[in-house]
Amino acid sequence: MENKKLTRKQAIIRRRIFILLCVVILALAAVLIGFIVSAVLKGGDSDKDNASSVLSSSAESSTVESSNTDSSSKENSSSDDTVSVDSTMQSIYDEYNLDPEYTNLLLVNGENPLPQDFDYEGNLSIIEDKYLCGSRNRMNSDVLPYITAMVEQAWEDGVELYILSPYRSYGTQQTLFENEVQKWIKTGMDRTSAENKAATVVARPGTSEHHTGLAADFNSVEDSFEQTEMFAWLKENAEDYGFIMRYSAEKQSITCVIHESWHWRFVGINAAKEINASGMCLEEYVEYISE
Ligand SMILES: [Zn+2]
Repeated sequence: MENKKLTRKQAIIRRRIFILLCVVILALAAVLIGFIVSAVLKGGDSDKDNASSVLSSSAESSTVESSNTDSSSKENSSSDDTVSVDSTMQSIYDEYNLDPEYTNLLLVNGENPLPQDFDYEGNLSIIEDKYLCGSRNRMNSDVLPYITAMVEQAWEDGVELYILSPYRSYGTQQTLFENEVQKWIKTGMDRTSAENKAATVVARPGTSEHHTGLAADFNSVEDSFEQTEMFAWLKENAEDYGFIMRYSAEKQSITCVIHESWHWRFVGINAAKEINASGMCLEEYVEYISE
């Protein structure tokens, strides 16, 4: 009787030990799986970080001050959420070797003129004549593949998009600005008022985005451009090639430039999509990512 009780007790203990062991093994397995999953995810992220830090440094090398380094992580993390490249675009990017992560956010405006020692001519390439409808023919070398891919795609869609005015030298801008100033002086304005008025239409020398080789005017610098199919095409597709319409009426109080439907600025594919989706202008976006 005593013996039977003992073996029964032993059996119960053994069963409890067995259940306990099962629980411990299951718990260990769960911890192990969790560890493996997190290690895999972490590994993927760090690859991404490495890739993007290389990319952001390459982007920075062609900018002067623009976005600072702490902004790049925020930019990259936010771009992860927004980027969804469809297969057509992906094949175009592959064909032209375009990088959706490549960004150039150099901010040039009345308050942020290019520094005296800016290397105006340092990173420019010649645009082939077939893309042009004006006499100026130079563009930032890194951006050249994006703008030519964009124009070629417009042609393929039956739209006669041409680059009218890409890079402009300091001297050219000086002439354009002075012509505008003289227009206002002729109406009886004093020099300072005429300059201020002119600056809303033509950027003062040193403050034009055209100096950077990152911006271009297309087809015609007339308000009627907004009614053309070229504008409609750009509005629909330019962000896929990293370009944004830089100056809109709604943002004039911030940009201090009138509505210019013809002036498009390269910022990078991901940044362009994010800027358009957010409704920010470049000034706001640069401030947002550097916060
Ligand atoms: Zn322009």
